[in-house]
Amino acid sequence: MMKKTPSFIEVYKSLIKIPTVSSDNKSLDQSNKNFIDLLSNYFSDLNFSIKNYQIPYTNKFNMLASIGSGTGGLLLSGHSDTVDFDEKKWTKDPFTLTEANNRFYGLGTVDMKGFFAFILDVISSINTKKITKPIYILATANEETDMSGARYFIKSTNIKPDCIIIGEPTSLKLINAHKGHMSYSIKVIGNTGHSSNPDYGINSIEIMYDVIKALLLLKKYLKQKYRHQDFSIPYPTLNLSSIHGGNAINRICSSCVLNFEIRPTPGLTLTQIEILIEEKLELIIKKWSDNRIFIKKLFSSVPSYECSHKDNITKTVEKLCQLNSTTVNYCTEAPFLEKIAPTLILGPGSIEQAHQPDEYLDKFFIQPTKNIISKLINKFCY
Ligand SMILES: [Zn+2]
Repeated sequence: MMKKTPSFIEVYKSLIKIPTVSSDNKSLDQSNKNFIDLLSNYFSDLNFSIKNYQIPYTNKFNMLASIGSGTGGLLLSGHSDTVDFDEKKWTKDPFTLTEANNRFYGLGTVDMKGFFAFILDVISSINTKKITKPIYILATANEETDMSGARYFIKSTNIKPDCIIIGEPTSLKLINAHKGHMSYSIKVIGNTGHSSNPDYGINSIEIMYDVIKALLLLKKYLKQKYRHQDFSIPYPTLNLSSIHGGNAINRICSSCVLNFEIRPTPGLTLTQIEILIEEKLELIIKKWSDNRIFIKKLFSSVPSYECSHKDNITKTVEKLCQLNSTTVNYCTEAPFLEKIAPTLILGPGSIEQAHQPDEYLDKFFIQPTKNIISKLINKFCY
């Protein structure tokens, strides 16, 4: 017997209701298993085959749902997790989909559990028996922390769709590129001593002064050497984010820590940046050969990403949706998913509301989003 298909709102509500917070803070981090199970049931009821993958060493899962056979087709992708939320700042329950002011409020309404409600709504209204190429739906884990879901997915799959669309909240703008992100911490260890006799110590702040000079040279080099005109800030940026060192006015500072980040433009790889950092710091590290300077990554790096304007898929989707592709200033899973197929980012709701208290989806996006998903499926799977 056919199950009665739940309405768009019922599905949306049920997806928001299940908490799937990802956090680097272990006490806040949650498994997404219940959410993945619910999503799997929804797609299974629409005759999709389901494969769920546990991310090694975690209690997190990716879901790949597929229907239709053969090569090519379309992959619609979203992340199943949300960021943590500040209870004091929310005026509504983050886990209750609340309709008000022509908006749907709730954690994940735009970023981005809501996207799956749109996909389910469109697919339940079409005849999937007539598709000639597969439709894939991917729900990833841990996008908001280390992107381990997407990283694991590209290693664990052999599917080759023609096109991948990530439904991040782009206000339905078509995105074909973003910068990457790398963050580092440099620790300098000196020797402490009374400040009245500088010869008795090694001042870590003075060594850090040389480190900073080298990093500022790197910053200048990146700005001069690399250019990507599609970005409003058309060069890779380097930001000195925080610095801590010293404790008493009459003490030679024994330890100083500097954190910094780099945002590479497409065309500049993570490896290239690592080499550049090494080159710039080489002389200082040699000078203090007794292990005084330590560099470590702060967070997992995300590469830059671009699906060229010249790529056939970019042109096809631009034409289909009557949109010109453009760039954004945040990172997504696209640099990983593009390893298996050309990837574009296009989804309902605004990034302005993502990671904010009282996150909401403007109802304005509902019909246009459903139209776009239908068009994409028609184009790539029929
Ligand atoms: Zn997101």
